[in-house]
Amino acid sequence: MAMPDRILIAGGGPVGMVTALALARRGYAVTVFEAEACVNDAPRAATTHPVTLELLAGLGLADDVIRRGLTARHFQFRDRPSGELIAEFDHERLRGDTPFPFVVQCEQHKLARLAIERLALMPGAEIRCSARVAEVEERPGGVEVTVETARGRESVRAAFLVGADGGRSTVRKCLGIEFPGYTFPARFVVLTTPFDFEAERGYCYRNYFSDPAEWANLFKLEGDDGRGQGRVVFPTRSEEREEEALGDAGVEARLQRFFPKRTPYEVAHRNLYRVHQRVAQTFRRGRVLLAGDAAHVNNRKRRWTPM
Ligand SMILES: Cc1cc2nc3c(=O)[nH]c(=O)nc-3n(C[C@H](O)[C@H](O)[C@H](O)COP(=O)(O)OP(=O)(O)OC[C@H]3O[C@@H](n4cnc5c(N)ncnc54)[C@H](O)[C@@H]3O)c2cc1C
Repeated sequence: MAMPDRILIAGGGPVGMVTALALARRGYAVTVFEAEACVNDAPRAATTHPVTLELLAGLGLADDVIRRGLTARHFQFRDRPSGELIAEFDHERLRGDTPFPFVVQCEQHKLARLAIERLALMPGAEIRCSARVAEVEERPGGVEVTVETARGRESVRAAFLVGADGGRSTVRKCLGIEFPGYTFPARFVVLTTPFDFEAERGYCYRNYFSDPAEWANLFKLEGDDGRGQGRVVFPTRSEEREEEALGDAGVEARLQRFFPKRTPYEVAHRNLYRVHQRVAQTFRRGRVLLAGDAAHVNNRKRRWTPM
């Protein structure tokens, strides 16, 4: 039986949706299967770098990302204990090398939603939510995936499959592709607060604080309501339990240590993330390709000694 020309994409995160848009713009019929009911808006990627903006410009998305995010020309490194400014980097130095000499602070779910808006207008592009890719079989001239939905299991055949289903990729596991590397013992606590660190302390939109006891990163985001929010990232201690890291007392203590103030912090989101450094053995097997976190997850180039 001839395989349909369609390209399937497992995973409707930023990589899956942007890949679908790129393929649809080239005239391919695409179907995205997203396991969840809607785009995951948990706080994750916020910073879109110049090279990514160039890629998005090629898909007609850069202007909207810039409009929906905060443009950050500078980023700073500080010594956390003293608050001293160690270095300030200016993206303007890249003018001439890129049309985007800045980064844009734009939450990744906004990028995924922008791609969805475009895909909705394109014939041949289909997005199926609450549809989890459970099995993948290579077939002559194509692939066959089994998709789980509320109505049961369904087989879908296509010419190619892109596995953009995140770090725990089912597609990668179905193909038996190894994902060697390591996972850091410490995790990241990500706290989001409406507190205005820029107004109170004069920080810029991207700040990195070094400290042998507990480093921190602070980013400014627009938030869904456009009123602005601060996102602070800390490492946990290796042995720290989730209840401790995410409980009210632990969260408040961490934020007060970072920036003491008289009133308690209002915290809009609190999340804990594992941090990995892994690369798939291969990004392609036959007619199946891996993209995004399914293919590689990384945080730092060097091993980092946890506290
Ligand atoms: C705290 C934090 C901060 C970060 N900051 C940045 C940053 O500033 N800049 C940056 O570039 N990156 C950042 N990252 C990394 C960034 O979030 C990831 O690289 C990005 O989410 C990868 O996108 P993705 O689409 O490949 O995977 P994901 O975003 O994980 O999306 C995968 C999608 O696939 C779906 N899915 C899973 N399994 C299946 C299945 N079997 N069938 C169908 N669907 C499935 C999931 O529901 C999900 O929607 C950060 C990450 C974290 C945790």
